[in-house]
Amino acid sequence: MKNSLTLCISLCFGLSLMSQKLTNVEKKLIKTVEKNNTEAIAFLEKVVNINSGTLNKEGVKKVGTIFKTAFEQIEFDSKWIEMPNEMNRAGHLFAETTGKKGKKLLLIGHLDTVFEEDSPFQEFKRINDSTAHAPGGNDMKGGDVIVLYALKALYQQGLLKDAQIIVAFTGDEESTGKPLSISRKDLVDAAKRSDIALGFETSTGFNYATVARRGASGWEVKVKGKRAHSSGVFNERVGAGAIFEMSRILNGFYEDVRGEEFLTFNPGVMMGGTFVEFDAATSKGEVFGKSNVVAQTAVVKGGLRFISEEQKEAARDKMRAIVNENLPHTSAEISFTDSYPAMPPSESNQELLAELNKVSLDLGQGEVKAYDPGKRGAADTSFVAAYVACLDGLGTMGTGAHTPEETVNLKTVEALTKRTALFLYRLINE
Ligand SMILES: [Zn+2]
Repeated sequence: MKNSLTLCISLCFGLSLMSQKLTNVEKKLIKTVEKNNTEAIAFLEKVVNINSGTLNKEGVKKVGTIFKTAFEQIEFDSKWIEMPNEMNRAGHLFAETTGKKGKKLLLIGHLDTVFEEDSPFQEFKRINDSTAHAPGGNDMKGGDVIVLYALKALYQQGLLKDAQIIVAFTGDEESTGKPLSISRKDLVDAAKRSDIALGFETSTGFNYATVARRGASGWEVKVKGKRAHSSGVFNERVGAGAIFEMSRILNGFYEDVRGEEFLTFNPGVMMGGTFVEFDAATSKGEVFGKSNVVAQTAVVKGGLRFISEEQKEAARDKMRAIVNENLPHTSAEISFTDSYPAMPPSESNQELLAELNKVSLDLGQGEVKAYDPGKRGAADTSFVAAYVACLDGLGTMGTGAHTPEETVNLKTVEALTKRTALFLYRLINE
């Protein structure tokens, strides 16, 4: 990891610097995080060893219950929110303290992992004293543990009084329950009662945080042409056929919509001919067509990623205009589906990053910079970005998320929990 030298310098030599920049209360808070660190790592090991693949509802709830008990021990009002049966998702853990002091905070995590019960990868195993091989240890039970132990240190120092902090650990981040209007309702409602949301998804490096994430959506183009003998193609009666029309449309997208920063769109599957049938559930299809017949139908399904609602809408308008310029004797329509909204790099997100940066510098942990939004996928913070200032990527460091090689870096847990505890302390005292 290219940051390991800076990290070592930061952690090894930061301590002397730190003592000058922190108040006595803050120093005590940091000491408390240190004191609890062995317990935090043991807690992480325990929750990693319980399978909580998104579809293992019992496992997700079991992990949730362990966190619920831990939050109750630090006097958070905790509840398990069930999802309707037909959604086939475990539900979410919400825990909160109520008060009026400083900024109102929403801390976001998730309890589920991509490793279902039939995955061979189930166990927390230490590789050496700094790294553990752990399914969902990095994405993102490690981040959840950082949230818990930062709050626990604040609680033990009596620093949570009169603050409003909502912890939201969803049970279906890796494969969201549909409709989103139900599975993300509690999260959005919590955001509406908050000023700031902090996401503890996998960190992208010790000295980076996420101020922006692209949103994701889908599109589908359906084209109709005139079925006829191929000898008549291009003539006044037959026209261009569906496949030429689809080619024109895709080429138009490529030439005229492509190029804006952070905007990408990808046709993922294409079918054309006399008859086509596509099964969305399995992403498989059947096509019938002949080289001597002008194609009467074509369909393309694709995805679109964007950095703001404005960018998304502008791209959709351009695509619609291209779709409407049909070749002779063809017609085409495009439809769009929304999934993840964008989290744009707003001024308030940048200000939040500046505050985190100051916390990190005061701890002697080095500068924290904005991570390239083009490189991050969508996550739960995206759903609340419209309502609150947001930062994400505040969780543990590690490698290989979503693969059987996933590791979590145990050495950085303490430093990141200190950073989080101090950051939360300053925000609730603003
Ligand atoms: Zn995650």
